[in-house]
Amino acid sequence: MPVENLEFKTEINQLLNLMIHSLYSHKEIFLRELLSNASDAIDKARYESLINSEALTDTGDWKITITADKDAATLTISDNGIGMTKEEIITELGTSSHSGTLDFMREVKEKGDINLIGQFGVGFYSSFMVADKVTVITKSVKSGEAVKWESEAKGTFSVEDTQKQTRGTDVILHLKNDDKKYLNHWEISSIVKKYSDYIEYPITTEVEREEDSALEKGQKIKVMKEETLNSQKAIWLKDKSEITEQQYNEFYRHVSHDFADPLSVIHFKAEGTSEFTALLYIPSQVPLDIFYEKFKIGPVLYVKRVQIMDHCEELVPKYLRFIKGVVDSSDLPLNVSREILQNNHHVDVINKNVTKKVLDTLTDMKQKDYDKYKKFYEALGKVLKEGVHFDFQRREAISDLLLFNSTKTGKDSYTTLHEYVATMKEGQEEIFYITGSSYEDASQSPHLEKFIDNGYEVLFMLDEIDDIIFGYFEYKGKKLKSVIKGSFDLDKKDEKKKEEEGHKYEKLIARITSRLKDDIKEVRLSGRLKQSPCCLVSDEGTIDPAMERMLRAMGKDMPRTMRILELNPSHPMIETLSAVMEKDGQSADTFIDLLYEQALLLDGNKPKDPAVFAKKISDLMLESLRRLA
Ligand code: ADP
Repeated sequence: MPVENLEFKTEINQLLNLMIHSLYSHKEIFLRELLSNASDAIDKARYESLINSEALTDTGDWKITITADKDAATLTISDNGIGMTKEEIITELGTSSHSGTLDFMREVKEKGDINLIGQFGVGFYSSFMVADKVTVITKSVKSGEAVKWESEAKGTFSVEDTQKQTRGTDVILHLKNDDKKYLNHWEISSIVKKYSDYIEYPITTEVEREEDSALEKGQKIKVMKEETLNSQKAIWLKDKSEITEQQYNEFYRHVSHDFADPLSVIHFKAEGTSEFTALLYIPSQVPLDIFYEKFKIGPVLYVKRVQIMDHCEELVPKYLRFIKGVVDSSDLPLNVSREILQNNHHVDVINKNVTKKVLDTLTDMKQKDYDKYKKFYEALGKVLKEGVHFDFQRREAISDLLLFNSTKTGKDSYTTLHEYVATMKEGQEEIFYITGSSYEDASQSPHLEKFIDNGYEVLFMLDEIDDIIFGYFEYKGKKLKSVIKGSFDLDKKDEKKKEEEGHKYEKLIARITSRLKDDIKEVRLSGRLKQSPCCLVSDEGTIDPAMERMLRAMGKDMPRTMRILELNPSHPMIETLSAVMEKDGQSADTFIDLLYEQALLLDGNKPKDPAVFAKKISDLMLESLRRLA
């Protein structure tokens, strides 16, 4: 077969340009990426040999070799892993699209640090930081045929059939003049120790050593010796006391592809009916895609030190999907399938234990290191919170981990449900909350006026899912109640006073009801307003308006929920409007419209017709200005 020349996918090409032409700190991570690929390839081969031993028989001596050829200025990383077929190498190293690449390039341009390249599934291309040409020779377990891939990163790569004795992949880097230092034994060995020590297969290299000559006594001769550079011990199987913080963090980067240090490390061994070791991490920042459907959930699953799958979602509940790390089970079968995982006693035990450990760790952090906990919560509280809804058994434990802004905390501090209940007003039966899209939004809401005035604390629920989670929630026997739904009578006015007011505004209410009949469900007098003339509220049990807006924005076909317009009977505007209407119903109509549109605005909506609204305001302004002129 002749040589095929192919073009790189556009974004890969851009990435390559960035790799070749820019100067970065941590250039040495190219070796980490290639060793990590080699190790993954061996994981796959080893797994294949265990479940499908016919395909792979010559096993046992799994190994990665680094060869530095000083004369040719090449550095070769070889593995005896799964290899790639021709089709695979064309897609994997050139033509498949990587949507994350553009995000990655933006980060790199801003920060000048390529450390996070592995996170985007394009680690291989970091070779071009140190090499002006890369040759890959690979023989796949599947096809048994060998392929040679080569590129100088100038827009194209070539692929051709070739010969190779052994299974696996050689990645040959033709080093740039300025990067020949990566041929030095000391350099290679220290990079491996720093980044790849935990890789469980030996990473070996040949090194020149002096030895006593066997022929001539007292003489030294130079011989080539094979040396293993990494300690290989699976880090999770080591004793905690043997592991430094830096090693924990480095392993975290390996499993999570996160470049920041983790917030917390959870390392434990469980014995009893199920035996397993877990090394888990709580990240310090939100993973980019945690709210996407395709987000890969769960730690890496090992069975007796063999990697089975790189994300096992059965091991953690979904609301702890930010947890990264490794679980190594002694009980599961090696050929464990998704069906087995979904119905397995050992998996249940692991899931329960992991959940408990993580929640205990967070509870502990909240008590002992509140600032750290705050950092966690601000990043990931939104995910954790889902547990209140989905994990019935632990909802109380989880709800004690939640932090809220409230009418009493201000923006930068928080209260908890526990504190709220402990400081509730005498006779208060419910926990009040308001939904909103930001602190500023919620704290300005007219619905809060009388609550604040009467000394009731109201929690701010600022995440879209909050109303779903808390709408039917009870904490220690106290129901949570939205202050924008249902009616409130915070003045405890006597019946006589209410009757009087009802009578006074009867006509105004009738006029507004008929004028706005297509837009609102009801008009009534409010027991929750103080400074504002009016507000929109919802019926108890109806969907939160912010939620409705969100669902509609997501393309859901939602019927419109009619709101209720509440008027403040003590507001001079309402009193005056009522008087005007008594005189001349028609002249009140413009003001009725404006009143309603103002309420819509305060509620986070647009006026029905912004142009008409603006015109009405302009007319009124002009009238007032004329009076002033
Ligand atoms: P990632 O490893 O994060 O997927 P890379 O760009 O480093 O991204 O590698 C792309 C793909 O190329 C890998 O997913 C793998 O399928 C393949 N690959 C890379 N190196 C090897 C190797 N040494 N052996 C087998 N396949 C490899």
